[in-house]
Amino acid sequence: MASRQAKNAAPAANLDEAVGFTLPARSARGRLVRLGPVLDEVLSAHDYPAPIARILSEALVLTALLGATLKDAGGQLTLQAQTERGIIDLLVCDYKGGELRGYVRFDAGRLAEASLPSLFDLFGKGYLAITFDQIATKERYQGIVPLEGGSLAEAAQHYFGRSEQIPSLVRLAVDDTGHVAGGILLQHLPEGEEGRDRIHTRLDHPEWEHVRALAETIRAHELADPNLPLEDLLWRLFHEEEEVRTLSPVPLVKGCRCSFDYIRAVIARFSAEERSHMVDDEGFISVDCEFCSRPFAIPLGDLDG
Ligand SMILES: [Zn+2]
Repeated sequence: MASRQAKNAAPAANLDEAVGFTLPARSARGRLVRLGPVLDEVLSAHDYPAPIARILSEALVLTALLGATLKDAGGQLTLQAQTERGIIDLLVCDYKGGELRGYVRFDAGRLAEASLPSLFDLFGKGYLAITFDQIATKERYQGIVPLEGGSLAEAAQHYFGRSEQIPSLVRLAVDDTGHVAGGILLQHLPEGEEGRDRIHTRLDHPEWEHVRALAETIRAHELADPNLPLEDLLWRLFHEEEEVRTLSPVPLVKGCRCSFDYIRAVIARFSAEERSHMVDDEGFISVDCEFCSRPFAIPLGDLDG
């Protein structure tokens, strides 16, 4: 109890947390996420120019919003944006048990030529793939939609509307310092269902239109304000609603699951011929984890046996 009070008294509010909420009378549920130190930790492993750091920050918030909806505690959510002829070649983020990580592969030369790159400049004709892996049931579900719209948030909304048939609102924001980001996901689930097949879907349901209109009043600076508690933000949006229930906040951390054994297993899949081109003079194959830039040196002799 004491630690909880101390936490509430701290000036920074809900940094690195996801808070779930429901509006039972409107058949709506949602998540709010705010990232602070986690962003710095993920980004510090790389040296990304501002537009790349910004899009990765948005993608990490989106990944946390989606990951926090997993019912299976051991489940994993992976978000991948793959592109054709975009400045960004690949963006990957994933979420597992509150752990977030991500990286971006991009063309630094082309980025330098673009002054204020749009989503289309960054991704070209791209695709957003979202994969849910439920560990308990060994189920894997993947949805893929074109990366359309002016922002990653819009692309995510398309994903839910088209791939999942769930009316959704997604907003993502990064503050000017780049050290705080936040987002909201609001969804209409009339029968309390969670993405199962629907025979009939009305995207113009009046109760949904009502809560969506309320949620649309949210401002980017509110989402990424480190001094505004997420519960206060919920109150601002929905205080005239009959009931808003909040779930306990889920802490978010930066985590990477790379290990010597994992990297060794990846290298072992290459042929002896390919490995002979990768090895250095000391007899090691050096590989950096793309997520955290942690270096691994695998002795070639280790693999030939
Ligand atoms: Zn790693």
